[in-house]
Amino acid sequence: MDTQKIESLLKEKLSESLSTESFKTWIEPIVVEELKQKKIVLSVPNAFFKDWIVENYGDGIKFILSQLIDPEVGIEYVVRKDLENKERKRFVHHEKKAPTMFNPKYTFDNFVVGSSNQFANAACLAVATNPGRTYNPLFIYGGVGLGKTHLLNAIGNFLLKHGNVEPEKICYITAEVFTNELINALRYQKMDEFRNRFRKMNVLLIDDIQFIAGKERTQEEFFHTFNALYEGMKQIVVTSDKFPRDLENIEERLKSRFEWGLIADIQPPDIETKVAILNKKAEEENITLPLDVAFYIASHTDDSVRSLEGCLKRLSLYSSINKVDITLDLAKSIMAGFLRKKEQTVTVDLIIKEVAKYFSIKPQDILSKKRTRSVLVPRQIALYLARKHTDHSLIDLGQKFGGKDHATVLHSIKKIKDELDFNRELKTAVDKIEKNLKER
Ligand code: ADP
Ligand code: MG
Repeated sequence: MDTQKIESLLKEKLSESLSTESFKTWIEPIVVEELKQKKIVLSVPNAFFKDWIVENYGDGIKFILSQLIDPEVGIEYVVRKDLENKERKRFVHHEKKAPTMFNPKYTFDNFVVGSSNQFANAACLAVATNPGRTYNPLFIYGGVGLGKTHLLNAIGNFLLKHGNVEPEKICYITAEVFTNELINALRYQKMDEFRNRFRKMNVLLIDDIQFIAGKERTQEEFFHTFNALYEGMKQIVVTSDKFPRDLENIEERLKSRFEWGLIADIQPPDIETKVAILNKKAEEENITLPLDVAFYIASHTDDSVRSLEGCLKRLSLYSSINKVDITLDLAKSIMAGFLRKKEQTVTVDLIIKEVAKYFSIKPQDILSKKRTRSVLVPRQIALYLARKHTDHSLIDLGQKFGGKDHATVLHSIKKIKDELDFNRELKTAVDKIEKNLKER
């Protein structure tokens, strides 16, 4: 295999697992220089680059190359001056920032409000109406695909539309891009520009802050940016996949600042909200969606709103290609292939059976209301495994497990998840049950 071929395969593989931003910053500039026997030479723009790549992507690169070339492949990184010049040009060019563009589809008008997101929506609207004066910082947390990015964009769109802040003074940035830009600024001695850029903002919307976990320099810089903005009474909105206290590898002083203002969570939507979201999306896309189909989709997808959208897209694509109406039967047959994949292998009943067998209790005990420890823990394990291995929503699982509410289900699952980290006995049990489930 020639070096160019290796380079393109390597980059192709890496691009699958990286965000566009990280890929462009770190992977694109790499050049596969030569391959001699089992040794490959990769050149990179500078020493800083080299360290960063080795530390963050080294294992991935090694894995891919060991598959492409030889399991024993040796990798050497070298610095090539001309690459650096090319990079510098690219960076300087890149640096002239236009005002943030917000996704026009992500507005408050398009955001369906239900009990799961009502509080977060109201808080964002208050902030957009009166930036820096109501809740500062506003911290929004919730699981994947529940609307955090949508709400941040909604704030941006609202501010632009009502014109109370100059467009250049509103910034939306993901924590990942913030990190990459900080690193570039450090490389090219542009820290002053970097700092000024953020500190002159009136509104800073920063998405997915969990990304800076373990990145000390980024945290340090963000800390100072935060303080400067906060003291100037500039609005800061942060989103995260976890509650501040539960963020691991993030400095205490940052976590405590996140709690200074208002914290709002977004929970998974209930069935009614899911149906309302589906109807809204169908209306936006001019799709005729009967109510029974909407209910079917809502009760057969996971908690994420993104999965709802995916199902709707699939259905509408099928119906427009084949020129048929969207009906319940159509929905069932289209979603069947997609749902069955997981459900066929492992079902809730099967999990209950295996858990009961492992603990030598009766499956009925798991579903009963008994609260003795001998059945409580198996029940929690069964819930945890059901959540992990099937497509059922929390509400669905609550019903299957004898009418428990969604908070109880969530609590059980979280308890097992947390305990697995340190309770060896529990880990052994869970591993063994999972093995039995697979080998059945
Ligand atoms: P997150 O950032 O929390 O992972 P997103 O904001 O990217 O989630 O939302 C995923 C998708 O779901 C987006 O297309 C968004 O428009 C949509 N979405 C999420 N919540 C709602 C809602 N309440 N109403 C309408 N669309 C929603
Ligand atoms: Mg997001």
